[in-house]
Amino acid sequence: MTPLLVAIAVVYGLIIGSFLNAWAWRLANDESIWRGRSHCTACGVQIRAYDNIPVVSWLVLRGKCRDCGAPIHWRYPAGEALTAVLFGLVAAYDGLSWWLVPHLVFVSVMILVSQVDLDIQIIPDVVILPAAAVGLPLMIWLDHDPWWEWPVAGVGAALFLWAIAFVYQRVRHMEGMGLGDVKMALCMGVYLGAAVIPALFLGFVGGAVVGVGLMMSKGTDAKAAVPFGPFLAAGAVACLFVGRWLIEAYLGLALPDR
Ligand SMILES: [Zn+2]
Repeated sequence: MTPLLVAIAVVYGLIIGSFLNAWAWRLANDESIWRGRSHCTACGVQIRAYDNIPVVSWLVLRGKCRDCGAPIHWRYPAGEALTAVLFGLVAAYDGLSWWLVPHLVFVSVMILVSQVDLDIQIIPDVVILPAAAVGLPLMIWLDHDPWWEWPVAGVGAALFLWAIAFVYQRVRHMEGMGLGDVKMALCMGVYLGAAVIPALFLGFVGGAVVGVGLMMSKGTDAKAAVPFGPFLAAGAVACLFVGRWLIEAYLGLALPDR
């Protein structure tokens, strides 16, 4: 059963990944998702159905529009492949259960907001807030022992990031983290519960390593150009699978006699 479920999830992941690309582009360019079919962003020609096959079309077209030859960013097929891999992992992790619903929604939202953040350095409210609102009742319904884990983790994570943003702004007199990251932490806490703690930790470590690396190679201005959302998303998705294990491993190290 599970190999079949994983295969189906991978195929759906490719299709959803392609849809997320289109949605991310429209969010970053102020265009409604409901308006018309996908078109080339350079020449405006509508993308033919046979050129719209996830990953495959990009490889066949060698990353160029069929009509005008404008390059198509590798991030699009990468996003489709990543969505497919993560959908497969979620299916293998959850099996055929209701947990698939919030987990697939969460993975999709993390990919979508990362794409938009990479493009325009904004975490779109119109995605992250409804995602949190939908996730809360779902998570409480699936695991209500204790039911308050999900709202407390969401509010706690948001307050934590808000406090860091506030202090950073006071000390450095510049905005290091936007309110978008605070709302993203809220959404992460709602879907991850206690696992949001290692998720934020991994996000900060990843962001710091890449930020320092860029500053050393490209100078101090580089830091401002690195959006934090994709790092939070990477930590969040990793901890969807290994967050509880990381917490237990940490507690086992801290309290070995427990
Ligand atoms: Zn074109």
